[in-house]
Amino acid sequence: EQNNTSADQSHFKIPDIKFTKLFINGEFVDSIKGRTFDTVDPRTGEVIVRIAEGDKEDVDAAVKAAREAFDHGPWPRMSGFQRARIMLKFADLIEQNIEELAALDCIDAGKLFLWGKLVDIPFGARLLQYYAGAADKVHGEVLKSSRPLHAYTLKEPIGVVGHIIPWNFPTSNFFMKVAPALAAGCTMIVKPAEQTPLSALFHAHLAKQAGVPDGVLNVVTGFGHTAGAAVSSHMDIDMVSFTGSTEVGRLIMQAAATSNLKMVSLELGGKSPLIIFDDADVDKAAELALNGILFNKGEVCAASSRVYVQEGIYGEFEKKLIEKAKAWKLGDPFDPETRQGPQVDKRQFEKVLSYIDIGMKEGATLLTGGKRWGSKGYYIEPTVFVDVKEDMRIATDEIFGPVMSLMKFRTIEEAIERANSSKYGLAAGIVTKDLNVANRVLRSIRSGIIWINCYFEFDSDFPYGGYKLSGFGRDSGLEGLQKYLQVKTVVTPLHDSPW
Ligand code: ADP
Repeated sequence: EQNNTSADQSHFKIPDIKFTKLFINGEFVDSIKGRTFDTVDPRTGEVIVRIAEGDKEDVDAAVKAAREAFDHGPWPRMSGFQRARIMLKFADLIEQNIEELAALDCIDAGKLFLWGKLVDIPFGARLLQYYAGAADKVHGEVLKSSRPLHAYTLKEPIGVVGHIIPWNFPTSNFFMKVAPALAAGCTMIVKPAEQTPLSALFHAHLAKQAGVPDGVLNVVTGFGHTAGAAVSSHMDIDMVSFTGSTEVGRLIMQAAATSNLKMVSLELGGKSPLIIFDDADVDKAAELALNGILFNKGEVCAASSRVYVQEGIYGEFEKKLIEKAKAWKLGDPFDPETRQGPQVDKRQFEKVLSYIDIGMKEGATLLTGGKRWGSKGYYIEPTVFVDVKEDMRIATDEIFGPVMSLMKFRTIEEAIERANSSKYGLAAGIVTKDLNVANRVLRSIRSGIIWINCYFEFDSDFPYGGYKLSGFGRDSGLEGLQKYLQVKTVVTPLHDSPW
């Protein structure tokens, strides 16, 4: 168990890191101040490579390029179909580099290599293909008027977009934002998370190869309070699209408000409930609940961190859950047998452990887990708390790690009320065979996505985003395209003008 960073990685060769600089106006460049920062492998805590550290002046340069590309370049002026062809080529290039990209996200974020290879990286390509299919179908509508007027709307790209993305899904988050913005005809600057800059730079390189014109897609790596803040407060960025913590979401909205009132879209935290009714198959439900909190080591904004089980099956459920949690395989994320890799970095690792401590101090009981796993890297055991009260911090705060609060309920009314008691409203799950129960619960829960008898099922056409403190605006699906479009209303008289 101690040997969690197995030396035997002979089945996979870690790629050389090719791109470490900022990508501005179609070129890889050093930061203006010449600074760099470490990106670390969470399997070992060792530095992978140093990355250019962009700051305000680099964001300025990227925005200047994006502005020029928007105001005078070909991208917004091309037909949707022309953009689509380039986006499809971009998708092909992603598909040709799946293994290398999956490996980059694996060493940078501790994500499972096999999952990246089979699901996450292909999904990035799929998002490009999906939005390429929509790029030539963007149009306004003819409006009704009670007077002799011909009026219609034009849909125009919003302009220069700033995408600020998190570290938990470096590739899918990149494409959930970049693909629709490209389809809309926007130009953009992407600020990847400082923990996971590697794949974003690779994507930028592939975009150039595919024929995305210079200045359309710029990537500025760097920290949140410097490069990120420069994006949200920039006077020449028309919209900021953010995924990350609620705390930073507030800062971004404030910066947008006090600068140029740029449009804002926020996909923030969650504390999502999974409600399991008495008629559920207990074994399957336990598997679903566990995967709902352990998938991607709990570093998922939609993680099912609050699990409510009806009293009739609660005892049996608890037993199954312990059994399964103990058998859950932790280890090197390159190993195809591994189900859980390390937390993304030392800070997250320590944050999760401190929440486990808080849970115990608050009086909750540890059912299983609760400790670091192994002696190297940032691994944490699958952890389940019981005797959790709704107002304990482990039940209210987003922990963003493999820590579940398991609770018992009696009635459907109680389940609805407790599920809704959170300040967040991102996702919810319902497990029951009773359609009436499912319908009633799903309509009563205030959250952006509801999974019934499944969890985390996702596709490019599904809008994703939250209610309440989980933010507003939707990524993915056609909703995710509309947000990158302005509406212009055009009015002309039907008959000769009276003047
Ligand atoms: P976490 O706390 O889980 O690391 P964050 O919300 O801090 O998540 O990070 C998400 C993204 O937001 C990252 O790209 C990060 O660099 C960026 N970010 C952090 N602070 C700020 C800020 N003050 N302004 C703009 N972006 C920020």
